Order: sequence, then C-alpha cells, then structure tokens
Amino acid sequence: MSAAPAGPRGAPDVRTRFAPSPTGPLHLGHAFSALTAAQLAEKAGGTFLLRIEDIDRQRSKPEWEQRIYDDLRWLGLEWPEPVLRQSERMAAYDDALELLWRAGLLYPCSCSRADIYQAASAPQEGAPLTGPDGIVYPGTCRPADAPARRTDRRPGGALRLDMARAAGRLGDMPYMETGEGGPRSVAGPAAMMVERIGDVVLQRRDFGTSYHLAVVVDDAAQGVTLVTRGADLAEATPIHVLLQRLLGLPLPWYHHHRLIRDETGRRLAKRDDARAISRYRAEGATPENIRRMVGLA
Ligand code: GLU
Repeated sequence: MSAAPAGPRGAPDVRTRFAPSPTGPLHLGHAFSALTAAQLAEKAGGTFLLRIEDIDRQRSKPEWEQRIYDDLRWLGLEWPEPVLRQSERMAAYDDALELLWRAGLLYPCSCSRADIYQAASAPQEGAPLTGPDGIVYPGTCRPADAPARRTDRRPGGALRLDMARAAGRLGDMPYMETGEGGPRSVAGPAAMMVERIGDVVLQRRDFGTSYHLAVVVDDAAQGVTLVTRGADLAEATPIHVLLQRLLGLPLPWYHHHRLIRDETGRRLAKRDDARAISRYRAEGATPENIRRMVGLA
C-alpha cells in the first residue's frame, strides 16, 4: 500500500475486518487475509474487527468458531469484544429486506437450480452466462409489471432483487478500491450489473437472508470503512455497493488482496486441511513462520 486509505468522505478513520465462516479450519489463505486486514488497520492507526459469518446454520459449528478465535489469537491478533455473529443479526437483515420489498425491488422466485440451468441453456440463449452467484438468472419468475411500491406482506421463501429496476433507479455505481498503486475509483456501470450479475437472491429460502445482504448490513453496523477480503470476492463488490446505495448506508472503500495458492496454482479451500493453521501449529511452526509463508514477513 502506498497510501493509507482514508475512510469514506476522506475521513482518516480506518475500520476494517476479517469475516470468516466457521465451517472448517482456517488455512494459510485465511491467515493472510486476517493479517493483511490487521496490518492495514495498524498502519493507519485504525481498528481491526472480527465478524463470524454463520448464517449457514447447517455448516457452521461452534467447534470451528472456537478454533477461529484460538488460531487468530495465536497469530497475535486482537479485536474488540463482543464479536459480531451473524446468527444473532436476523432482525437487522429482516429490516433491510423489508425496506427493499416495500420499494418494489424484490420478487419471489420458486426456481430450482435445475430450472435455472435449463432456462439459461435453452438453444436460443447460447452458453449460460455466469456471475458471482453462478448462472445469471434468466428472469423466469420476474414480474413484468411489479408495483413501484408494495404494501402487501413480504413472503417467505426465496426473494430476488430486480436488478434492472434497482440499477435503473441508481445509475452507475463507482466505488473506491485501494491497492499497491494507491486508491483508485472503479466505475461499476449499471449496464454491467444487469447483464453480468443479474437478479441475485437476497432472501434465501434456507437462511432467510443471503451472504450479500448480511455482509452489507453488518459492515455498516460495525462502522467498517475499509472492506478487506480476497480477490475472489471482488466480483461481488458491485452488488454490495448497489445494496449500500439502496439501503442508504455509507460506502466503505474496498481492498481485494491476492489469493494464497497451492503448488499447482489452485486457491486454498476449507478442505485443504494440510494447510490448516492448527496443523502447522501442531507441527511446531511459529506465527512468524506463518507470516513468512504467506509473504508478510
Ligand atoms: N465470510 C466470507 C468468507 O469466509 C467472507 C466475506 C467477506 O469478507 O465479505 O469467505
């Protein structure tokens, strides 16, 4: 980083975060992400926050959560308590969904994955286009004439964002990205959002919320001014900027860091137990060794 990122509106306060899901062991990629965020905060005299992203109640386990705390403390990281846990935040997600529903921007969707694949692969459609959430939704359930405002009750089940409507109301959505070369503005054109991202699910049938919605609501609640996360999530960022605008939330800056890969160039995943931090610990590695392994020492 050549310049410490200022917060939005030029404020110097850097509040950034590491937001793991307790669904498996933290590996070297997580260590890199957490250490990068902590370093960015430290350099700017700011704050490093931890958030537990456990909206997936099936896959999240208390043991994994405990191991996250243990591993991060062992790495030498500290964060303010209490830690925000997404499973305790359903009321806040509900409020945000309600606002979008009333604004006429959400619609119910009953398509299965197979339905979507089939509709998107119809011969006249060519190869299905994929975006941050997989195949770009072909619009099967999208109402042609949704009301501009809704007063009826928000249904359960899956709700999608009508991207053309949302982007049409807001126009282009530029955001600030920090990196090696210093801060730069990314254009975020509205047309790209419609074509390459499409109608993302914001209320999942199984979770009652979604990753995109929860992240945006929580970054605002935690006063995050700099979102630090891997480059693999960069393509989701325009969705988050759009949601921040729709919900009237402050726009943080974004730092998408490089990914830690294995010898074959593959990005590390939770199943890569061999690179679990706890494994290195058990084998006698020091936090300094880990920093060196991820190129931070
Ligand atoms: N919970 C996400 C993950 O573990 C990260 C979300 C984010 O940083 O925005 O990949």
